[in-house]
Amino acid sequence: MIQTEKKKGWFWYIPLHDDIVSVGVVADFEYLFKNRGTKDLETIYREEVDRCPGVKPRIADATRCNEYFVQKEYSYRAKRGGGDGWVLVGDAYGFLDPLYSSGVLLALKSAEVVGEAVADALDAKDPSEERLRRWEPEYNKAMNRMRSLVMAFYDGLNFGKLVRKHPEKKNLITDILIGNIFEDRVDELWPLIDELRRETEEEAMQPVG
Ligand SMILES: Cc1cc2nc3c(=O)[nH]c(=O)nc-3n(C[C@H](O)[C@H](O)[C@H](O)COP(=O)(O)OP(=O)(O)OC[C@H]3O[C@@H](n4cnc5c(N)ncnc54)[C@H](O)[C@@H]3O)c2cc1C
Repeated sequence: MIQTEKKKGWFWYIPLHDDIVSVGVVADFEYLFKNRGTKDLETIYREEVDRCPGVKPRIADATRCNEYFVQKEYSYRAKRGGGDGWVLVGDAYGFLDPLYSSGVLLALKSAEVVGEAVADALDAKDPSEERLRRWEPEYNKAMNRMRSLVMAFYDGLNFGKLVRKHPEKKNLITDILIGNIFEDRVDELWPLIDELRRETEEEAMQPVG
């Protein structure tokens, strides 16, 4: 994750096979597409590369090997995680903005809980929708927690400030940042995060000088 100047967005830079690297920018929709004078994806991409000293030299001698693609919303969740005799796992069920590098962890957790549901259904000889979707409420709770974190980041929340304000919660804050969000105990952080967001907003409204 490499941020652009003034933290308006960030690039991913992911080495793939055969000397190919996946590079892309994530930023607010309005920022990327409104008041820019162009909707051409390559031009927008190039403009953002120019604003990202961390990426520009890395791709200076690179050759493009695919089209430019755009995705309005990274996050999605299927309407239901399963039905009679079938179930969805990992990204097939839901995906969150990869900001906190939580995708693989979520996919592994999903494999665990769905695996348990499938084993239970096979044991009971009852692969019904009701049985195969038992993992969903808890899993959705965790996804919602991660989503709140992503929104807080885009609202400019400073996690360093949060730790300084609540040093006794340091371990809990570390937990959510590494994706350990499957326990209700982390919920005590949301009011503290909301409070800091309010304070940050109020500070930004203060007249200068
Ligand atoms: C830009 C970006 C950056 C990311 N960065 C991170 C990161 O830094 N850290 C992190 O943890 N996560 C990251 N993720 C998320 C992570 O990659 C995914 O959440 C994770 O790989 C999901 O695992 P999965 O097994 O559910 O799906 P996948 O890894 O997509 O696996 C699905 C597999 O099924 C195969 N397949 C599809 N259709 C068929 C078919 N019909 N028959 C047989 N096989 C099929 C596919 O080829 C694929 O191999 C990122 C994602 C993106 C898009």
